[in-house]
Amino acid sequence: MAGRSDSYDPREIKSFLEGAFSRIDLDISARSVLVKPNLLASKAPDRAVTTHPDFLRALIELLVDHSCTVCLGDSPGYESLDRVLRNGGYADMLRELAVQVVPFTKEAVKRGSGISPYRDFLFGEDPDRYEVVINVPKLKTHSMMGMTLGVKNTFGFIRGFAKGRWHLRAGRDRGLFASILVDIHRLVSPTVTVLDGVVGMCGDGPSNGDPVTCGIVAVSRDAFALDAFIEGRLCPGVILPITACAARHGLIPPYEVIDLGSPPAPARFPMPRTCDTDWNLPRPVKRLLRNLLTRKPKADPGTCRLCGICAEVCPADAIHLGERFPLFDYQACIRCYCCQEMCPHGAIRT
Ligand code: SF4
Ligand code: SF4
Repeated sequence: MAGRSDSYDPREIKSFLEGAFSRIDLDISARSVLVKPNLLASKAPDRAVTTHPDFLRALIELLVDHSCTVCLGDSPGYESLDRVLRNGGYADMLRELAVQVVPFTKEAVKRGSGISPYRDFLFGEDPDRYEVVINVPKLKTHSMMGMTLGVKNTFGFIRGFAKGRWHLRAGRDRGLFASILVDIHRLVSPTVTVLDGVVGMCGDGPSNGDPVTCGIVAVSRDAFALDAFIEGRLCPGVILPITACAARHGLIPPYEVIDLGSPPAPARFPMPRTCDTDWNLPRPVKRLLRNLLTRKPKADPGTCRLCGICAEVCPADAIHLGERFPLFDYQACIRCYCCQEMCPHGAIRT
């Protein structure tokens, strides 16, 4: 189910969500609920990097009205969850609504569903502890995967720096990384996905692009269907790697689940230029093309403050700090763009 909202008026969003939950027969009365937003890093809400606090307020007020016990959690890239909640304008609202904050720092081993070649995944929180898990992604472009929507948002169940190890295993192979994300998503298996696309983000995503008013709020019991629906609206004709992987494995249910009141696509929502890893070409040719066509991360010396976070988070150890800005080893770089994602000053471009 998708709808239009041009503002973050919590009353308007709450009323939309109430109708949507009833329409998909979602029973939330007196349940224990885990809300999993996108809390990537400490960013002001108007940067459109994280799920908007007023969007979360609308959802949580609805849950409280239905006597739910509400927990909210995530695993930001390198900061503590407390810091992201404080700096992002969430902390007071969560206190007011008596929400329990759950940092994803535990150890829960989950067995993969066989989509990727990997067997065990170490989660920072066990989603099976809750009766209802609500996945609340932000609509954004993503330099590596094209877009980040419902399926990608559940990667946040992997603890902070451990995310980099999954990037390293996949290397530059977007298809392999997509299969890892699909496995993780199936292990989380959210009860419902609620997309905050009122204001989305476009450009150097997922953390350094431009806010774009899209007016989209979408709800589905199935994030694969929701992602395919939104991608169909915003980048018709392009099948992004996560959706391609899900389709190959027959994981996308019929679209009618989310077929209500489709929002108009924004006039301009350009995808980042990414490299297709599914070419049917010999491996050396594929590698050469990938090197030529995939965008390289670069630091802007005028903006960089030499904080060193990019070097710390790089899973391939491909960044070394020079005297004025970081230097990149493009042979070692796997183009995961974690450096760009985590740079607190927006100094890395792709
Ligand atoms: S994280 Fe950003 S500001 Fe810090 S050293 Fe790297 S490029 Fe510079
Ligand atoms: S330099 Fe940036 S894009 Fe390259 S591997 Fe390191 S974090 Fe990923």
